[in-house]
Amino acid sequence: MGEKTKIAVAPEIQVGGSLFSPEQLAKIGTILGADAKIEMTPFKQLYVEVPLDRRDAIVEQFKLVGLEVYPPGSTTKSLIACHFCKGAEEAGLDTARILNQAIAGIETPTPLKIGYAGCALGTSEPLLKDIGVVKMRNTFDIYVGGEPKGLKTSIAKLLLTGLTEDRLVPVIKALVDFYKENAKGKEKFNKFIDRITLDHLKQIAG
Ligand code: SF4
Repeated sequence: MGEKTKIAVAPEIQVGGSLFSPEQLAKIGTILGADAKIEMTPFKQLYVEVPLDRRDAIVEQFKLVGLEVYPPGSTTKSLIACHFCKGAEEAGLDTARILNQAIAGIETPTPLKIGYAGCALGTSEPLLKDIGVVKMRNTFDIYVGGEPKGLKTSIAKLLLTGLTEDRLVPVIKALVDFYKENAKGKEKFNKFIDRITLDHLKQIAG
């Protein structure tokens, strides 16, 4: 049997949440075959194993039915967004999509989860993510350092408030870059923040 590789697959960010269409699920099943391993991850991506020599062709076929494909492992995950129940405009669907395009799939010392909520009800649990974005009327607040795993959990703390939409991508990219450059080995993001301090991070992001 040939060598296998893993890819991460997700539907586009949309009103209603992580919705796969029947066509997309059928395509995944048909292409991968009866013996495929398909794993549902806690960060709303499917991990699927594909033959290494067919990887690029399979990615193209997935994209043709509107699926998004990302690298697995130690990267920024695709944006973990809410269901946009308040409507695309009020909950900031376009902003979330732009953010996802800019920040998903960047290689990082450990996997990094970035959450997005379209209002302060935060039903996508943004304060349990490494970086959480919450839309507050016309501006955005950014929280950092959420960690729900293990026994020493932490809730993300407010880093910046009142950000305009155009500053979101630069600020989050700056945070990810700073983490990449300064993490000690596989230091987790919340531990990294504890060491660097929130005040220092505010200077980097602000
Ligand atoms: S975070 Fe707000 S807009 Fe998004 S699904 Fe929850 S309640 Fe609706």
